[in-house]
Amino acid sequence: MDERFPSLTITADALTPRGSFAEAQATYLSPDPQVVEQLVALLHDRRAGIVAHFYMDAELQGVLTAAGSPHISIADSLKMADAAVQMARGGVQTIAVLGVDFMSENVRAVLDAAGFEHVRVFRLSSDAIGCSLAESADTPAYRAWLEAAGHTERALHVVYINTSLLTKARAHAIVPTITCTSSNVVQTLLQAHAQIPGLRLFYGPDTYMGGNLHAMLTQLSALPEATIHELHPQHDRQSLQRLLEGFRYFRQGTCIVHHMFGDDVVRRVRAEHGDAYLTAHLEVPGEMFALAADAAASGRGVVGSTSNILGFITDRVDEAVRHPGPQRLPVVLGTEAGMVTSIVSRVQAALRSHDRCDIQVEIVFPVASEAVAAAPGSELGIVPGVAAGEGCSVAGGCATCPFMKMNDLESLFDVLEASDGPDRRAWEPRTYTERIEGRTAADLGSEPILHMRHLQQHGVLPGALVHDVLQRPGPGGSR
Ligand code: SF4
Repeated sequence: MDERFPSLTITADALTPRGSFAEAQATYLSPDPQVVEQLVALLHDRRAGIVAHFYMDAELQGVLTAAGSPHISIADSLKMADAAVQMARGGVQTIAVLGVDFMSENVRAVLDAAGFEHVRVFRLSSDAIGCSLAESADTPAYRAWLEAAGHTERALHVVYINTSLLTKARAHAIVPTITCTSSNVVQTLLQAHAQIPGLRLFYGPDTYMGGNLHAMLTQLSALPEATIHELHPQHDRQSLQRLLEGFRYFRQGTCIVHHMFGDDVVRRVRAEHGDAYLTAHLEVPGEMFALAADAAASGRGVVGSTSNILGFITDRVDEAVRHPGPQRLPVVLGTEAGMVTSIVSRVQAALRSHDRCDIQVEIVFPVASEAVAAAPGSELGIVPGVAAGEGCSVAGGCATCPFMKMNDLESLFDVLEASDGPDRRAWEPRTYTERIEGRTAADLGSEPILHMRHLQQHGVLPGALVHDVLQRPGPGGSR
């Protein structure tokens, strides 16, 4: 049996898939032009916009990318909210959020804070669109961990954006909290520690990311002082060691998708793709992180957010077009496979603009052997996806998020067509009736997001958050 990983080879004007999964991706990258036109017309008619996460399924992303409208944005969770605000400034009245529930909540909170309460926000399902990671912060274990943080002097909880507003609100009531994303978490930790002497940092709920951050900071603390200064001018080796001494992370939170990039995948990547560029999301298990981090140290890889991965691949292509002659760039994609649509779009645009038909970029989808099923009809004999299909989309395997795939093209048209109708409450972002410390969960839960946005805009933590951390009573006290 041929057990090679599936892959998609991209050239300026063609896509060559290997394996059924890659074939499905390739097919959807050339969507029906009529469907694309209908979507653009509908957006115009309803004064609507779309913000979608990179992990949408191939069919949906194919149409969104082909539409090429300024009222469509495909991005990571942080930029989704920024794009929504920009669209609202441009006069959009309705925004469809294609992602999971914490993303639509985040978009709603950021729009409200920017004064766009009147702009309607919709999800693509009347059912809950969950997330294994977000749910792991909604557990007694997480609460107990936060209580311990709450009894620690000078504690700051840095919570991953992949959590519900209710989780953020409850956490913020126990210990001062700021939200982070995979693209800003390192700077958040560094800046917070530089700004508040003696700070103890509690990161959650993603266990793999917590472990990877610890490993990354440990590596940083061994770098020359000048390199550390470049990363953050107020840090040196000693300060990083102090940061590490006070750094704690939650040990029971997992994204089921990134969990798949474990030992088995790493062994095969090492053995079969030693010549490839290696990319890994910060959420992957430590083995995959270490492999990609080693590659990154020699310029052959990247570890970071979805945007960092996209940027790394784009940079390699930009380098390649500066050199004459045929070239092949193999890239192992260590994150959710939905990223491939944006990668194809960027890579082909770069190759076409330089008229380079002789460069091939091969995107390899590394899928764990327990996440592949026998497929007698396939030339490969196996395809990504567990045998029973549970937890995986029909379009792909377990390198695809089943929650993200609750968003589909049909629902998008349904939601946009009926967005003016009276009966759309079930499609709106979740609302919470719970009051915490006399405030609504939405109000209190938005505060950690606004703290993060302040840090992004001004480069420092807001005074109110610093005050909150410093005023806490410490061991034995209560808020
Ligand atoms: S990939 Fe899916 S399960 Fe993993 S963090 Fe994102 S939404 Fe949650």
